[in-house]
Amino acid sequence: MALRKIIHIEDELLRKKSRPVERFDAKLAHLLDDMAETMYAAEGVGLAAPQVAVLRRVVVMDCGDGLIEMVNPEIVATSGEQEDAEGCLSVPGRRGLVKRPMNVTVRFKDRTGAACELEAEGLLARCIMHETDHLDGRLYVDIMEREIFEDEESDGEEELEENE
Ligand code: ZN
Repeated sequence: MALRKIIHIEDELLRKKSRPVERFDAKLAHLLDDMAETMYAAEGVGLAAPQVAVLRRVVVMDCGDGLIEMVNPEIVATSGEQEDAEGCLSVPGRRGLVKRPMNVTVRFKDRTGAACELEAEGLLARCIMHETDHLDGRLYVDIMEREIFEDEESDGEEELEENE
């Protein structure tokens, strides 16, 4: 495994649409391993392949309940609403208030190509929306209600520490 370099908001690659994975091979496994290592090293809760300059539909997440890997994720249903602070490893030092669905159903493949489905709520639902947005070249700053500034962060909302 190896750490990959996380690219930042000024990089054009973050604005491109990623392509689906077609081969569930050793190269994909290697990418997933590297992405998880890179996410944990950066203390993030999610990372999408375009953030490490790979334009493939691959994301990893860990919102506190263990590592989740998703290949070719597709949001099939959403419901409810939540509004909270969001950050991004590709947008360092910034936070924004973002509206997301409270509940998300996502279909995806695992690293072997097996079909999976997951129903998520709360922070994990937020994380899934944030990461799948990356695969279509969308960043949270495009859809946020407003920027959250440093002095607000001392109010102690733990969610403010999350990075995706
Ligand atoms: Zn992000």
